[in-house]
Formats: sequence, C-alpha cells, structure tokens
Amino acid sequence: MYCPVRPTSFRDLTCADARLEDVGKPATLAGWVNRRRDLGQLIFLDLRDRAGITQVVIDNADAPKAHTIAESVRSEFVVRVSGTIDKRLEGMGNDKLDTGEVELRATEIEILSAAKTPPFVINDPEAEVDESIRLKYRYLDLRREPLQQRIVKRGQLVQAIRDTHHAAGFVEIETPLLIKSTPEGARDFVVPSRLQPGSVYALPQSPQQMKQLLMVSGFDRYYQIARCLRDEDLRGDRQPEFTQLDLEMSFVDDTDVMAWVEEMALAVTQAVTPERPLLNTPFPRFTYREAIDRYGSDKPDVRYGMELHDLGELAAASGFRVFESVIDSGGRVFGFAAPGLGSSTRKQVDELTELARKAGAGGLVWLALDDEGGIRGSIVKIVGEEMAHKLAAQAGAARGDLVLIVADRDITAQEVLGTLRVELAERNQMYDRSILSYVWVHQFPMYHWDEDNSRWDATHNPFSAVMPEDQKLLTTNSGDPLVASADDPAGHARAQQYDIALNGWELGGGSVRFHTREMLAKSFSLMGHSAEAQEEQFSGILEAFEYGAPPHGGIALGVDRWIALLTDQSNIREVMAFPKTSSGSDLMLDAPSPVHADQLDELGLMLKPQPRAQER
Ligand code: ASP
Repeated sequence: MYCPVRPTSFRDLTCADARLEDVGKPATLAGWVNRRRDLGQLIFLDLRDRAGITQVVIDNADAPKAHTIAESVRSEFVVRVSGTIDKRLEGMGNDKLDTGEVELRATEIEILSAAKTPPFVINDPEAEVDESIRLKYRYLDLRREPLQQRIVKRGQLVQAIRDTHHAAGFVEIETPLLIKSTPEGARDFVVPSRLQPGSVYALPQSPQQMKQLLMVSGFDRYYQIARCLRDEDLRGDRQPEFTQLDLEMSFVDDTDVMAWVEEMALAVTQAVTPERPLLNTPFPRFTYREAIDRYGSDKPDVRYGMELHDLGELAAASGFRVFESVIDSGGRVFGFAAPGLGSSTRKQVDELTELARKAGAGGLVWLALDDEGGIRGSIVKIVGEEMAHKLAAQAGAARGDLVLIVADRDITAQEVLGTLRVELAERNQMYDRSILSYVWVHQFPMYHWDEDNSRWDATHNPFSAVMPEDQKLLTTNSGDPLVASADDPAGHARAQQYDIALNGWELGGGSVRFHTREMLAKSFSLMGHSAEAQEEQFSGILEAFEYGAPPHGGIALGVDRWIALLTDQSNIREVMAFPKTSSGSDLMLDAPSPVHADQLDELGLMLKPQPRAQER
C-alpha cells in the first residue's frame, strides 16, 4: 500500500521502506506487533503499520535489555524499535513482503502502548469474524488489511473525482446540513430547533435545491462530495447516511451531462482500478422502455446475454388460456433462454418458480430443450410440441437451453424475468467478475400514478424537466392539474432523466431540470401540490426562477456504491469506515441512544410513551 515516508520524532521509515541498499544504516520504526515468535535467544517481531511489515530481530547476545522488553510484548502492542538494517540470512527471505530481504536488528525497544488480546485475529485477512463484533470494534477491524485497503481505495476514488472535476472547471461548494425538506422520495431525518421551539430542520436527502440555486447564482459548474441522509429501511446498498458525488451544470441538455459524466467516470475508473477491463465505451444508452423490454431492469447488467424477448404474438394464439387472457387484458408475455440449462431438474425449476412468485409474478412457465431436439415443460401438453418449439425459438433458445416465460402486467412480467436472469447468471457464474460495465438508461416516465392519493408522483426527481416533445402531455383529462386521474396524458410524458448503472447496480441518476417558475409550478400541481402548498414548501426555488435562471441539469452518483463495485463488494458497509447496522445502529458508539430529559426540555419536546419499545 503506497504511503510515502515522512520521518517524525518517533520514526524515520515506515514499515514498508527498508531495502537491501539500506543494509548497515541505522533506523527507527514504530508500529503494531503483527506477530511475535520467541526462539529463546532470538525474538522476532513482525512490525506493522499502514504501509507494510518489517521483520525485527532481537538477539539476547547483542541487546539483553531490549530482549527482556521483547519477551513481554504481545500482538497489537504499539512499539518503537531502533537498530540497524541487516540482510536476512540466506534462504530466510520473505518474497511476499517488500521488505522481505532485510530485517531490523534491534538494539532498543520502547513499548508505546500495551494491548489487550483483541476480540478477533487482526493479522489474518481471511479470518471469519461475526459482523456485529466487527462493527463494535470497528477501529480494530479497520486495522485489518482488506478493510484498510478498501478505505484507502475509497480515498483514492474521492481524490480522482476531485482532480477530474477541478481540471474541468467545476467549483467545489459545500451546502448546509440543516435545511428545509427537499423531497427525494424518502423520509427526512429532522432536527428540532432550540431557538425556534416547535420548528425543525430537515437533514438533506440531497443538496438538490441548493445546487440548482447555485446555477441561478451563475456558478455554471458545481460539484460536491455530499453527505446525504434518508430515513428509509436499509439493505445491502443503502445506509441512512451516504455519500454522493453531486454535480450540476448550466447551459446543458441531457446529452451534455451524460457526456461529462462518461468522460469523468472513465478517468476516475482508470485512476482507481486501471487493472479492471471496461466492457463498453462509449457507455451503451438504453431508453427506459428498451432496458425493461430487453433486460427486465432499469439498471441492466450487460456483462452477459440472456436477453428477454416479446412472445406476445405467439402467446395470443397459443391456445394456453393464461397467456391469452393476459394478452387480452393488455398484459405482456416475455421469455428468455438460459444457455445450457435445459437439463435442469424439476426441483431447480420449482425453485425458480418460487423466486418468480416472490418477485411478484403469478407463476412461471418453463420449457426445457434437450440436445436431441426434444422439448419438455409445463405447457407442452396444452400448446403442443410445435407451438412449444416456436415459443422457445422466439425466446432465443437453442438445443440444450432452458426457457423461462412470464405472463403478467406490462413491466411486472419483464421485471420478474429480469430478476431470474440476474439470479441465473450469478448462480451459474455466467460472466467475468473483473469486467466493469457502465450503461445509461434514460427517458424514464415523468410520473407514476399514486393510487392512494389520486395524484401523479415523480418517478425520480420532482425537479426534472419533461422531454421537449412530451411537453404537451403535461395535462390532465379534467383540465385542472390538481384533479388528476390514472389515464391522464401526463402518465405518458417522459422526463429528461438519466440513470447510470454499473454491473447491474444503480450508480446514479440525474436530470435536466425545469428552469422556469411556470413549468416547475405546473409539474408540482400535477403532483398534487396546491398553490399554497407550493408556496410553503418550495417558495425559495420558485421565486429564484423569477430572477433569471439558466437552463441546467445535473446528476448524483453514489460514492459508497461506486467504490463497493470497484472493490467487488456486495455490501456498502464494506467500504465505509463507520457504517451502521441494518437497523440503523452504530454498535461502536452505541447510537442512537435515549434522549436526556433536560435535552427534551431545552427543545420544548415531549416523548410519547412507546409501549413497543418497552416490550423489547
Ligand atoms: N438529487 C438527485 C438524487 O440525489 C440527483 C440529481 O437529480 O441530481 O438522487
């Protein structure tokens, strides 16, 4: 791990520096005892710091005082050792260490701090440790090589992001944490105000409004490594607080933002993981519709095939009632072929059916082709062999393949297959894990219908602008944007929204924004915000747009996800120094913790009794 030497009053080299050419030179090192071997007259210490490991040898014959101290030293003690760099004996070198040909012959040792026996082994990168113990003793976990290296890589990623943006004229600007709610579709964390009892700040779900206001101020190109907070349920790629590369640009359309992000992402990837091959440059661009119909996902992983195919026409004439009624009611029938899985057992297929159900489908239809041209499957008897073969061929199958078919509502059918596609590729290791594959998905629907509140809701960002050719669709059948219905033209409008995905994970998303008060207010109305509500929630940005706002757009990319993907981790906890558990706890600092009565008093707050919390 590269860590340049910077001599201090405690040491003159790091534990990775000593080489053959230093033999005979005096040196002082400081670090942790990674391992100690006591051979009687000789004691060996592997001394470790962030940079590496140097072997220290203490010979009772040369340095009896140091030898006595070395006898009392244990793993993880912090020590300072002085002596002379020496060549290791013939055949005793360690080619795994940069310092492996030499050792430090110690004449003095000073114990800087003793250590209890740690709750898990620090010096074995492979050691399996319970995650809650790792989180409680995070400072020790961070001493272990794999996590330490990932955190260093993360620093390199942020550095590369900064370098690339500065070189392109972006200004780094910090925005406040105590703000007013900015909706990103999650719950806010709120902070009660002591000076204004009864009022709260919201912690930013993103700096969205502020970065747009910076464009109104004329900053032209802004970026920030921004901390964002969203009070939502956690999973592997989510934490309550996370870090985004947040950026905004003026005088741009969607292609300009995508072009910058692509150039930047390539430069950053090259700087951080030059060894990983990139699948496609320029990054492929799919419309949302294409992504759904071909991959069953709005964040497609294109490192492997198994593309979906529309079987609608055949299904409608297949004689299979389920297919026909789905098609009649406006649903879709899609299928894909999994290469070489035609010999799957009944049990394996049942498992896939279960998965399809969990993903939201009513069921799963399968067809298995053998190597001799035969076909078996759940519907072969009903539709006949000829139709079964036709369906399989339409799904892209060859001999020996397994075909999976779902008939359901539009989008659901494709997404269920998308889930199965990913699952099969994972299980059967159908791709090279080292490959990085960035893709764009754009032209998302502006709104989705909110059944509960009878209104339209932004599919992504409420500030996103509509595609120019769809502007006329921003209407309701009633003529009043506040009186909406599920079949309004607005439901067909597409946004100037683009998402970037990496290896099947959503890495980021952004859009070109409305930059006139009139259009933004109109879109807010469609989302059910009355004029008064708009005034209360968004008066700042609406008013700002009356003072000359440039056309602008931006994006935010998840830094935690990005570095997790670059270091091949499936949980972002593995790339965060101090993450929280899935229930949002910090096990090391014991947060959240009960609030003190005097804090509540000062804030003018009272707690409601929490019967469920007491039961726990
Ligand atoms: N504010 C959006 C988000 O945090 C990103 C953007 O549209 O720039 O996801």
